[in-house]
Amino acid sequence: MDDTAWIKLALLSQGITASPEFGDWFAGTEGYVRRRNFYNSPNWDESGTSAALPQEIRLTGGRPVVVAVNNYGSSSWQLTWSEAGGPAIVSEARPDGLPIELVNDLASIRGDTDLARVSNLYGGSALSFFSPRACYFFADGTQCRFCSLDGTARENDEYAGRVTPDEVRSAVAAVVATDSLSLNQVMIVGGNERNLDRGFVHQLALVDAATQALADAGLVDEISVHLIAMPPHDLDLIDRLSEVPNVHAGFNLEVWDPDRFTTIAPGKTADYGQANILAALGRLRDAVGPYRAHSILIAGLEPANSTLDGARKLAADGISPIINSYHSDRHSALGLTIRPSYRHLAEVASGLQELHDLYPIQPYWKGCGRNALDYEASLGMFRGSPPDFN
Ligand code: SF4
Repeated sequence: MDDTAWIKLALLSQGITASPEFGDWFAGTEGYVRRRNFYNSPNWDESGTSAALPQEIRLTGGRPVVVAVNNYGSSSWQLTWSEAGGPAIVSEARPDGLPIELVNDLASIRGDTDLARVSNLYGGSALSFFSPRACYFFADGTQCRFCSLDGTARENDEYAGRVTPDEVRSAVAAVVATDSLSLNQVMIVGGNERNLDRGFVHQLALVDAATQALADAGLVDEISVHLIAMPPHDLDLIDRLSEVPNVHAGFNLEVWDPDRFTTIAPGKTADYGQANILAALGRLRDAVGPYRAHSILIAGLEPANSTLDGARKLAADGISPIINSYHSDRHSALGLTIRPSYRHLAEVASGLQELHDLYPIQPYWKGCGRNALDYEASLGMFRGSPPDFN
């Protein structure tokens, strides 16, 4: 039985620590993606940074599975390394270890500090731009309770706070000139400026710039462009996405239960409202096409059946739910106060699998969603009874 997708859930539940042997070996390597805290910081090691940890690993099995390296300080899962076996993960459930692969960074990003300032390789195959690297909800004290953007950006100021369309266009052109085979998507995501319409228009310009660079390289059919944003108040602006080829876009609900939404996302509640986000998602679906519109629901922040109720409603409406496991970030209000159990994530994954078997849901991340369950569900990897990991 290929249980790598279930192991991903165990790692997302508990996090993973690193043995000294792994740390020493990894510190001496070159070319693998290191953790770069663009917008979140899920590693609670003593130094407060995690330069010596990979950003994600690939579990090798029947099908490779990408999973985040989130280090919450204690876990029954550990990264190890040995001369004979190379890098692996071990736990009581897998005392003999499971070999893993590290994710190779893009040569173009490694060799160009300007590129590294504006972009990041996410999950091994998404070229990611995060702009703006700030959100006005923090200034108002109404930030989403899981979000650590403000503290993370203050702690790591080497990345751009805002990128321009020209920077995106030239970064995409430079990366695909040497690394196109490593990419399957370009991701535009960010915080929010107070004028949501103006912020959305700017993010549309970034989407257009990425699309133009891909079109110039003849890659617009191979590499999709993905936008996650707050919806604008002027819903007509959403329709502009209908003119963009091979685009996916999403507005995040975060949680489904309306009372929980108010608690978890007070800024979104005050300035937009859950019902209005749902209405904007309908408009987005009409603009980009069924199942190319997405919305994140975070597993672990509400009962599993509530997450699944939301996913079911979205899927029935032609919107692809994105199910992310809650990751505890330093600088967030919730931090380590909540940790979803493996059983909780397995229940959500089994329910999500049923939805993927019923509807043509498209994963937002095409094999690179390090905290997401969707790609594995799209491959049927959560069918059957969950193994008993913990
Ligand atoms: S909308 Fe919420 S999750 Fe997004 S950047 Fe702002 S505070 Fe963070």
